[in-house]
Amino acid sequence: TKSGVTVGYLGGHEFAVVLEQVDSVTHVSTVLADLHERLHEPLTIGSTRVQPAIWAGVSLFPEDGYEVERLLDRAAAAADQAADIRDGRVHFYSSEKNAASVHALLLSSRLAHAIEADELRVHFQPIVNANSGEIEFAEALVRWEDPVHGLRFPNEFVSVAEQSGLIAALDRWVLTRACAQAALWCANGSANMPSVTINLSGAHLAGREGRFVARAIQNALENSGLAPTRLVIEITESRLVEVDPAMLQSLQVLREQGVRIAVDDFGTGYASLSYLERLPLDKLKIDQTFVAAIGRDARKEALLESILMLALRLGLTVVAEGVESEDQATFLVRRGCHLLQGYLFSHPVPPEEFIRLTKFWSLPLAAQRALSASGIKRPR
Ligand code: C2E
Ligand code: MG
Ligand code: MG
Repeated sequence: TKSGVTVGYLGGHEFAVVLEQVDSVTHVSTVLADLHERLHEPLTIGSTRVQPAIWAGVSLFPEDGYEVERLLDRAAAAADQAADIRDGRVHFYSSEKNAASVHALLLSSRLAHAIEADELRVHFQPIVNANSGEIEFAEALVRWEDPVHGLRFPNEFVSVAEQSGLIAALDRWVLTRACAQAALWCANGSANMPSVTINLSGAHLAGREGRFVARAIQNALENSGLAPTRLVIEITESRLVEVDPAMLQSLQVLREQGVRIAVDDFGTGYASLSYLERLPLDKLKIDQTFVAAIGRDARKEALLESILMLALRLGLTVVAEGVESEDQATFLVRRGCHLLQGYLFSHPVPPEEFIRLTKFWSLPLAAQRALSASGIKRPR
C-alpha cells in the first residue's frame, strides 16, 4: 500500500498493520485515525447493513520486543484487552509498558492540532492583595476545548507538551492571548484593571526555544500594546532545569523593561532553593500543598512559615496559592503573605466572566473576615 504501511492478513478475523520508521507522532496518529474512520463505516451486504466492530492493539519496536513473533503476540494481547471493552469504538491498546507512551503520542499530535485549530482557551483567576482586598493580578490558565472529550485541564496535557516539544508553542499561544486580553481590559477604561501573570514551563526555558523567550514576550507586548509593567511571568518547573546563561540573560533583559518574574510552586520540584540564588526574581509563589497543610500537618506548616520568612527577608513578594478556607487565609495574612489566590476568592473563569468579576468585585465574607483579622503591619 502507501509508503511505509504494510497490511497483512493473519487468518480468521485478524489483520496486521506494520508502520515503519515511526519517528513522527503525526504519522502514527494519522494512520490510526484514518483506519478508525474507514473501518467504522457501515457496509451493505446484500440487503443487510452491517456495522463493523474493530479492535486494535499496538505494539512498538523495540520497546515491546525485537522479534516479529513477540511483537505480534503483544499486539494481539493488546487487541484482546480492547475487545473486552466492546463499546463499538476502536481501542488502541498496547502492552502495559508502552500504553502510556502510545497515549502520549496520540495526545501530543492532537494537541499540536488543537493549538493550530484554536481549540485552546485562557481562563483567569484573581490574585488578591492581602492589604486592600483588591484584585491585583489575574493568572492566565490554559484550557483545551477538545471537541471529542470536552473541556480539558492542564494536568492532562501540559506534561505531554513538555515531553514532545510542544510546550513552547503552547506557552506562546497563551502568552499572546493573555496579553491581548489584558490590553483590552486596560483599553476599555476600567482604571485599575489587574496585571496579568502567565506560566512559562521550565522545560520550555531550558529547551532549544528558551533563548527566544524574551523575543516572544516582547512581540506579544508590542502587538498587544500592553505595558511591560503589566506582565508577570511565572516559571513553573516539573523537572530539573539547567539555568542556561543565554536564558538568564533574556530574563534579565525582560526584567529591566519592567516585566516581573515569579517562581511558581515554590517548595516542590528540584531547584527551588537554588533558583532563589540564580534567577532574577520578584515574586515567590508558595505551592498549594503547603497551604493545604495549615492546621493539619505541623511539619509542613513549619516549612511554610520558614519559606515565608525567607522570602520576606529576600525582599520578594509572596503569593500563596490554593487558599480555600478562612483559617488558611488568616494564617497566611498574619505571617506577612502579600497576595492570596484560591477558591476562597474565586475559581479560574473565562475572560468575559472575569471582567464581570472585577467590575462588581467584593470580597466573599469569609475572606473579608480573614483579611481584617490580621491588622498587622507587615514588612515590605
Ligand atoms: P499553577 O500555575 O500553580 O496554577 C494553579 C493551579 O491551581 C490551577 O490549576 C488552578 O486552577 C488551581 N487552583 C487555584 N485555586 C485553587 C484552590 O483554591 N484549590 C485548589 N485545589 N486548586 C486551585 P490548573 O488551571 O489546572 O493548572 C495546573 C497547572 O498547569 C498550573 O499550576 C501550571 O503549572 C500549569 N499551567 C496552566 N496553564 C499553563 C500555561 O499556559 N503554560 C504552562 N507552561 N503551564 C500552565
Ligand atoms: Mg502558575
Ligand atoms: Mg502553583
